[in-house]
Amino acid sequence: MAAASDLPHAVCVELARAAVANGAQAYAEPAAVERALQFRRTLLSPVINATGVLLHTNLGRAPLAFAHPPQAINVEFDLSSGERGSRQQAVGGLLATLCAAEAAMVVNNGAAAVLLVLAALADGRQVLVSRGESVEIGGGFRVPDVMEQSGAQLVDVGTTNRTRLGDYSKALARKAADVALILKVHPSNYRIEGFVEDTPVAQLATLDVPVVADIGSGLIDANCPWLSGPPPAWLAGEPAARQSLAAGAALVTFSGDKLLGGPQAGIIAGRADLVSACMRHPLARALRPGGHVLFALQQLALSYLDRTAATVVPFWQMASSSIDDLAVRAHRLVSAAGIGEVVASEAIPGAGSAPGTVIPSVAVSVAGDRLAGLRAAVPPIIARTRDGATLLDLRSVHPSDDGHLAAALAAL
Ligand SMILES: *Cc1c(COP(=O)(O)O)cnc(C)c1O
Repeated sequence: MAAASDLPHAVCVELARAAVANGAQAYAEPAAVERALQFRRTLLSPVINATGVLLHTNLGRAPLAFAHPPQAINVEFDLSSGERGSRQQAVGGLLATLCAAEAAMVVNNGAAAVLLVLAALADGRQVLVSRGESVEIGGGFRVPDVMEQSGAQLVDVGTTNRTRLGDYSKALARKAADVALILKVHPSNYRIEGFVEDTPVAQLATLDVPVVADIGSGLIDANCPWLSGPPPAWLAGEPAARQSLAAGAALVTFSGDKLLGGPQAGIIAGRADLVSACMRHPLARALRPGGHVLFALQQLALSYLDRTAATVVPFWQMASSSIDDLAVRAHRLVSAAGIGEVVASEAIPGAGSAPGTVIPSVAVSVAGDRLAGLRAAVPPIIARTRDGATLLDLRSVHPSDDGHLAAALAAL
């Protein structure tokens, strides 16, 4: 069995033991081989994302272009002085330049960024949040719960659908008010439509309390200077780090692996005194990222700064492929596979970014539900069904994987 699956012996013994405990004959082939192969499929491995969800949280969000070399790196070592340095300095500096912020730092994910900001700047004090932004983002990130963990006290302002500047100033004027921050949260994975109103950062910044904007998605600059054309239509309305800070936010927080297209990380950028207070807080040590994350973020930041991000960051490659290119690939794929037809499709950015918007796309459609068969391919292909057909959306597939798709379709 070990030979058949090339799994370590100890793992095979464990699988056999579990099978015997369930009444099976330990080494009865081929059931044992089947068990080993099944176990193999529980291991982390590369897959082909043909769902059309470009940032698929179950598939690791942004595919990562930058790997850490198998060598020591100067994560916390100052090469000039030969003394201990700060792991935040290099990457923090580049990210600050990107967002036009005074300073920036990196933690493990977006949730950690919000937690640290609240703990460092508002422990034991009040934080104003619009009732329309007291949201759950998915995967257990709930604004009231994070607030509670941080030691800050949530003060709800306004209503679910409409919150005006006056609602915030009324809360600030209360007798017992001890407001440390105003937190503005991007509702990310949903959108309220109709009779709605929220208060933009620029208005909140006129009040006498620092405004923290949790923009979540990690769009660095609404003008997308790294793209050759204008910003794509599907990005309209998505808050951006640079513009939020320019509008007067004291800090922004966002994820590294959403629209930024990098590794799992959380970024805090803005006023230097506030970023330093976050760095000095004891939680910062518990939430600090590893060198491999910092290295990848550094390379990513450099690619944005020299405007090569559109060609080297997988997310922006996927997002900016033209419909014509996708159609050419789809037709080629269908003729190579001898099965399927080319159809129009709608991809989405995913990971709660730009909710409600779609990116026009092209898919190969095959009749029936073929999801299980495609998942069994090597590498596994993750697709979706629509109206009784299986769709392979090419926008989320790297062109170098088209051959795998053709082979898997031909084998169906
Ligand atoms: C995604 C998101 C988070 C959580 O970020 P993670 O990197 O998933 O921890 C927090 N706030 C907002 C607004 C988000 O969109």
